[in-house]
Amino acid sequence: MSPRNVIIIGSGPAGLTAALYTARGNLKPLVIEGLEAGGQLMLTTLVENWPGHRDGIMGPELMAEMRAQAERFGADIIRGHVTSVDLLARPHVVKTADAEYSARSIIIATGASARLLGLASERALIGHGVSTCATCDGYFFRGKSIAVVGGGDSAMEEAIFLTRFASHVTVVHRRDTLRASKIMQDKAFANPKISFEWNAEVDEIRDTGKGEVTSMVLRDLLSGERKEIAVEGVFVAIGHTPNTKLFVGQIETDASGYIVTQSGSRTSVPGVFACGDVQDHVYRQAITAAGSGCMAAIDAEKYLDGLPQHMGQATLEDRAVG
Ligand code: NAP
Repeated sequence: MSPRNVIIIGSGPAGLTAALYTARGNLKPLVIEGLEAGGQLMLTTLVENWPGHRDGIMGPELMAEMRAQAERFGADIIRGHVTSVDLLARPHVVKTADAEYSARSIIIATGASARLLGLASERALIGHGVSTCATCDGYFFRGKSIAVVGGGDSAMEEAIFLTRFASHVTVVHRRDTLRASKIMQDKAFANPKISFEWNAEVDEIRDTGKGEVTSMVLRDLLSGERKEIAVEGVFVAIGHTPNTKLFVGQIETDASGYIVTQSGSRTSVPGVFACGDVQDHVYRQAITAAGSGCMAAIDAEKYLDGLPQHMGQATLEDRAVG
């Protein structure tokens, strides 16, 4: 089979925006959805910061719309999980459990996954009072008492940000010293709305029966004692893991495993572009992921236009049969 012009790995806002733009560029992109089709927005409820929806839109509905829009312009979106890639081969090779594809360019949009505590109650209440994104969901907690779990910069940043809305923020940390930078610690300690539960672990989040957060049960890691604290929201801020396992050793990543991009979405491998949270540990918003997906599509298109004929230059005719 002749190589595709572009294969997009991942189907969150970055991947689907790259699909929309490359489809409209007549590149007939193939999108391989991945295990968490739709990405992190599938785990949220109301999204109020996506421009153009003044009353907000449900996360899964937004992703269904993005998908349908990309398909309308000819993107092929297939279920499947990429099991291996050869980025250095020309054309590049992408394998799933039951098929092998080749492409002149690749857009990596595999995202990052928020680390979770691993509690059944946490899973059950995510999007219903349990959140991994203060910027996205803080607004829903006006006047409420909430908790932030974690002791790093993200946890302090989220705790401080959340005091704009919440009546009180309890930080739950498993040790008695924070990992966060000194300046973030000082800010958190100085904030009268923030208190700390040290050497504590969340054992359970209640109330799964009601489908909303009413309290959390903490376990003291030194004494083993358990206590219940009334909260209406729990923000889990224990870090993110970029989904880059597939690419290890083939592409440049930073010390935390995020793909390094330069001049837009270019990676260390010519013809391979990256967008969204897999290359961004700073902004991590749906809108910034979508913006970088657009950049990756434009970068891929320019790259294909510049390929010499013998490498499979993407002529218009070529594009149409993709
Ligand atoms: P992080 O630095 O890895 O911190 C994760 C925190 O979560 C740690 O305090 C850790 O506890 C705790 N933790 C991890 N697994 C846990 C578990 N299963 N149960 C309970 N607690 C758990 O992650 P991050 O805060 O997301 O920061 C990531 C990187 O981004 C860092 O380099 C950070 O400096 C940077 N960042 C910077 C800023 C800023 O400068 N404004 C803002 C956000 C992030 P332990 O301490 O016990 O390991």
